[in-house]
Amino acid sequence: MLNKNVRKIEDDVLSACETSHRSRKEVQVIAVTKTVSSEEAKELIDLGVVNLAENRVDKLLEKQQALSDVPQITWHLIGNLQRRKVKTVINRIDYFHALESLSLAEEINKRAEQCIRCFVEVNVSGEVNKHGIPLEEVQTFIQALEYYDKIQVVGLMTMAPYQANETIIQSIFSKLKQKQVEIKQQNWHHAPCTELSMGMSQDYKIAIQEGATFVRIGTAFFSAE
Ligand SMILES: *Cc1c(COP(=O)(O)O)cnc(C)c1O
Repeated sequence: MLNKNVRKIEDDVLSACETSHRSRKEVQVIAVTKTVSSEEAKELIDLGVVNLAENRVDKLLEKQQALSDVPQITWHLIGNLQRRKVKTVINRIDYFHALESLSLAEEINKRAEQCIRCFVEVNVSGEVNKHGIPLEEVQTFIQALEYYDKIQVVGLMTMAPYQANETIIQSIFSKLKQKQVEIKQQNWHHAPCTELSMGMSQDYKIAIQEGATFVRIGTAFFSAE
């Protein structure tokens, strides 16, 4: 089943790349393992997936512990991070996808032993109760990050609203892409902003067509159909 899902996802990623005239190499698939055991995550690694993500600090550390003899894993923390947990995790991950406040940036900067690759999380849709910086404040926010020398803004991240229709999702991803290009054009040393973390099981094909360079896929890897 896992094997079949891995192949289906790879086929879909390839065809989305082809449709949008992009190279397959531009898109990295991240497997979100938050709902499965370390054993299942290990099976994915054996099938060639190298990017693993968790949305909770304790779960990420647990999986790292269990998979400590597997050297080739790239670790992504994709969920919101509380300040008090920064020191336990920040030097153990390769990418952090949910930077959304200066106070968090300050704490990361204080605890990081080297430069941390971060995505700024953006609330494109403007939904209340949703994490992320509003689209119109992204540039000011990223400019302010200049003073934290351990933070490198590699790109922008967003989550599309649940159960929105395809046109709405497409427009949200497209707006994030526009903003990413706008930031990249600033040529800020601390914010190369070349990457776009967007697309989940329901919408990763749309996301790739709109320019995603990292898609975060959970359910589609592990569901039974
Ligand atoms: C769980 C999660 C995903 C994966 O969602 P699926 O719908 O299971 O593919 C992606 N991004 C974030 C931030 C998540 O928490």
